Amino acid sequence: MSAQNSLKILYLSAEVVPFAKTGGLADVAGSLPKAIRALGHDIRVAMPRYGRITRDKFHLTQRLEPFAVPMGDISEPAAIFEGQLAPGVPIYFVDNARLFDRDGIYMYPDDAERFIFFCRAAVEMCRGLGWQPDVIHCNDWHTAIIPNWMQTIYRSDPFFQNTATLYTIHNLAYQGIFGYRMLEIASIEEYGFIAHPDLAPDLNDVVDLMARGILFADIINTVSERYAQEILTPAYGERLDPILRDRRDRLFGVLNGLDYDVYNPATDPYVISHFNASHLEGRAPNKAALQQEAGFPEHPDVPLIGAISRLADQKGFDLIAQIIDPWMQHLPCQFILLGTGEQRYHDLFENIRSRYPDRVAVFLTFNTPLAQRLYAGADMFLMPSRFEPCGLGQMIAMRYGCVPVVRATGGLADTVKDYNPRSDEGNGFAFEPYDAMALYTTLVRAVETYKYPEVWRRLMLRGMAADFSWETSARKYVDLYYRAVATRRGAHPPQDYAVLRRDSTAERMAGS
Ligand code: ADP
Repeated sequence: MSAQNSLKILYLSAEVVPFAKTGGLADVAGSLPKAIRALGHDIRVAMPRYGRITRDKFHLTQRLEPFAVPMGDISEPAAIFEGQLAPGVPIYFVDNARLFDRDGIYMYPDDAERFIFFCRAAVEMCRGLGWQPDVIHCNDWHTAIIPNWMQTIYRSDPFFQNTATLYTIHNLAYQGIFGYRMLEIASIEEYGFIAHPDLAPDLNDVVDLMARGILFADIINTVSERYAQEILTPAYGERLDPILRDRRDRLFGVLNGLDYDVYNPATDPYVISHFNASHLEGRAPNKAALQQEAGFPEHPDVPLIGAISRLADQKGFDLIAQIIDPWMQHLPCQFILLGTGEQRYHDLFENIRSRYPDRVAVFLTFNTPLAQRLYAGADMFLMPSRFEPCGLGQMIAMRYGCVPVVRATGGLADTVKDYNPRSDEGNGFAFEPYDAMALYTTLVRAVETYKYPEVWRRLMLRGMAADFSWETSARKYVDLYYRAVATRRGAHPPQDYAVLRRDSTAERMAGS
């Protein structure tokens, strides 16, 4: 480690705000590094250079000439471009036109190859830069192969011998599961296959990148304390709970923070009328503008409920489908959904909109300015997730005075406290069972409470006063970095990986 215990950290993510975003991972990757930097550490970020990240738009300069990145028996060239994420925080872009010069981020048939390449290029880049990281901070399945490499192909490499890994699970549901060929591309001969007695047999016979991150990382964390507990159970473990339980001694929960420079209703450039806790009146024009944009009657007293989300099973929208009719018939309110994702949810919400056009508006796009206007203008924010590792939506909503209505799971349970009318405590509305009637009765409670402006105002103010800044969580991450470094220096790998079979890919393929 360098002088004064300042750490060198390479932070890897497949998406980073403002360069590419599909969800909360990009927000975290765009903001946590700044907070780590503010604590005095040399943190540098790396991501692929997707087609839309042009040199001109983001003022990138070429940092390394193309070099050969080993991909099994062949190699593939990577150049490195450099930009700035924030003052003092460089961001490196791995450039390879064949793999990354495309419009999208994921969902390509060669995703395994694309992200293995990104990881290998990012690791080798450190050598080219002459910069030896103390920790490589890997996020989600896209970068989960690196902990595996650090215990195998880089284990005795003098450059990386002391490089520890922290593996952060942002969402256990996306594991990056591929076939054997991936191991060849990843140059992995040793510890090829998992042979865990409690793991579903089919998982022992595939390459599950998330599982590898969990099995090999020096330290593991997920993005809320509640979710760190939940994933140890079969109900939330996405079939990896047996190996998570084995590794629970090194599994931690650290709640995500928000970038307060970006998410600030007093300065947000997308918000029409700025406001803050001592000037809540400034919020009203945002609601009126939203009602207009949605084609609703402009009623300041009718509660406006917003939802901003990926449209995936995780997010609980099937519950909404089950109660939409009684909701619309019995509860005076308006509902705006901004989201994009699975086609069946697009169809569902189009259908609901056509039946209640003056009460329901649906925007099936990804639109950051509209999202910010919605946080700033809606009265309530609906997030009935089936599971939620952390959830940023409810935290942004609270910061903007929009009261959350959520299912109490994962990070939602850690951040939203159900309103208790007797004690006048709480900052939102929350229900426990994953059940349409529980959602419905919670909406009834919220809409009823909205009728009492002073009570509602206190709810808004409590949400706005909550501290969701990165500072506290960034300190916890630094603590995990030190733990990872200590583990790396003291670990005895073969015992840790007893559940991995050593048969090589070649043998496996020959035998299959
Ligand atoms: P997840 O990471 O599971 O998608 P989070 O709540 O952690 O969920 O983060 C979602 C982030 O993406 C928030 O910043 C939210 O505002 C944003 N977002 C989600 N859907 C959209 C959309 N359709 N348009 C604009 N922003 C969106």
